[in-house]
Amino acid sequence: MYLVIRCPGCRSFAYMDHLQRWKLCPICGEIISSQKASVYIEVEKYAEAEKIVAQLEEYLKKTRRGDLTDEEIASLRATYARWVKAHLTP
Ligand SMILES: [Zn+2]
Repeated sequence: MYLVIRCPGCRSFAYMDHLQRWKLCPICGEIISSQKASVYIEVEKYAEAEKIVAQLEEYLKKTRRGDLTDEEIASLRATYARWVKAHLTP
């Protein structure tokens, strides 16, 4: 599993393996703790995490907002679950 998180230092989205306890932010060098970072969504594959990170950055840039609302995070999780079902169910 991979956790899509946000760096508390520079606010850029990132992802980390759920077994990892720390991640060094590639942008600002902050040490991100998986215990303290807020998790936006958990996914199975790093490729999916990478895609979501890019989409979230793009979305906030487009809407010129600082963060997602709780509703948007809930909807992201629901949509993602549906997407996985649609693409991975034989
Ligand atoms: Zn950072």
